[in-house]
Amino acid sequence: MANLVSQVASVVEAGPDRTAIGYEGREITYGEFWAQVGRFAAALDERGIGADDRVAIYLPNLPQFLVAFHGTLRAGGVVVPMNPQYKAREIGHLLSDSGAKAVVALSDLVPFVDEVKEGTDVAEVVSVGDSAEGATPFEGFLAGDELDVVDRADDDDAVQPYTSGTTGQPKGVQLTHENLASNAEASASVVPGGIGADDKQLGVLPLFHIYGMTVTMNATLFDGGAFYPLPSWDAGEATSLIAEEELTLMHGVPAMYNDVINQPDAEEFDLSSLRLAGVGGSGIPIEVLRRFEELYDVTVCEGYGLTETAPVTHFNSPNDRRVGSIGRTLPGIESRIVTDGFEDVPPVERGPVDEGEVDLDEITGEVVIAGPNVMKGYYGLPEANEAAFTEESGRKWFHTGDVGYHDEDGFYYVVDREKHMIVTGGYNVYPREVEELLFEHEDVADAAVVGIPDERRGETVKAYVVPTPDAEVDPEGIKEYCLSNLAEYKHPREVEFVEELPRTTTGKVQKFKLREGEEEVEAE
Ligand code: ATP
Repeated sequence: MANLVSQVASVVEAGPDRTAIGYEGREITYGEFWAQVGRFAAALDERGIGADDRVAIYLPNLPQFLVAFHGTLRAGGVVVPMNPQYKAREIGHLLSDSGAKAVVALSDLVPFVDEVKEGTDVAEVVSVGDSAEGATPFEGFLAGDELDVVDRADDDDAVQPYTSGTTGQPKGVQLTHENLASNAEASASVVPGGIGADDKQLGVLPLFHIYGMTVTMNATLFDGGAFYPLPSWDAGEATSLIAEEELTLMHGVPAMYNDVINQPDAEEFDLSSLRLAGVGGSGIPIEVLRRFEELYDVTVCEGYGLTETAPVTHFNSPNDRRVGSIGRTLPGIESRIVTDGFEDVPPVERGPVDEGEVDLDEITGEVVIAGPNVMKGYYGLPEANEAAFTEESGRKWFHTGDVGYHDEDGFYYVVDREKHMIVTGGYNVYPREVEELLFEHEDVADAAVVGIPDERRGETVKAYVVPTPDAEVDPEGIKEYCLSNLAEYKHPREVEFVEELPRTTTGKVQKFKLREGEEEVEAE
């Protein structure tokens, strides 16, 4: 296989006048986009930046992100995507760990990047205008001529994202050209009829994160669809864009779906142009999925994946899905449920099981993955790599750290993250089960459950609840509701009402912040 961006070159040949990007009412054709990409690549080449050199992209979802991303790859370089919300300490770690030679940043952040890059290998800071403010994109950086696509091998690095680091320092994940190409193809293959020139994809998932990067951006551009980036999440803005531009595909994290249904005018949104709505990144509460489907008559398909698997490994096809499941394993990828001793755990007959009725220890194990999408490794971290993989009969199995089970029809179910499990008085409680119940309560808009230290039980279950604006229930009422629906040891002995939950940019609840206590939550 060649450089992964050659796929865009084929799309350009087939239809240079088709729309590649739609942004703020302006359309950029494939021909225009690819020419900018070539000139960006040539500008890097002129500065001696090429094969295997790391180029950090510190941008929100703007058309310039797409140009810098594909331009770096076209020059043979490796993209290091950086969360635009990262501050000096985090940026400093990513730049020095990756050995980045260049950083692409919004012009008003260039002085900040100049300071942070002290002592790193960064020699070039590319200043990018924010077109929303009328500044010139790339401010004179692009070369006059285009650079041809630089050849790359399957296992050459292409992108090095950093895991969000909910534990310890972020780790660089080496994703190769094959990892990313195979997963963009697999992600498009589960959309009925594939993705085509008539498709228009919402681009609101952050592009620095692998979910937005592969499933929305790459899967669309490699198949000739149009991509509509939005720099930040706003439920009203996203739903208006879907209606105005008649977008056909969207992907979001559960918090986005929950935000949409909790809007005061939620019933008025017209999302009828959508032919598929995908969700992943964390488990979507079943109530949220059902409510969204009821309101908009769109099938919401849940998938699952990780940065280390580029990312998607499981997906519910709209024609054959099982609500509550993460779906079946994608074509070309293998997954298993294994015990600590790496023995296979047999499937249940049919899922999802009623978690209150079965002994979860008997049917669950760790989800492990093998396939062309699995990362080469964590960059420069031999010990982390040792722990992440098990080699068996020549296959490298990646440990996800997620607890799950599967059924005889091939559907997989994620119970929770291993590290989120609460051990209370000798019993195991998975927060997700309690959260699902909380979402069923009509006065609950959002909820998260964690274990907090308890002298007698080791840990005890605590629920943080965001009540709906007209909620009548109080924390005591929530406790009673849980107690009447769950085994006693699972019910939250503490319930606290909060205005909002601390979340990462990718919509995951930062449970470590909740565990740190009340003051931290308020500080968020
Ligand atoms: P870090 O490893 O640094 O804590 P992170 O795990 O949040 O960061 P990601 O690669 O974005 O980084 O997240 C992958 C994790 O997201 C999976 O291991 C799983 O726990 C969770 N996840 C993704 N999709 C789903 C889903 N559909 N259901 C349940 N969990 C999911």
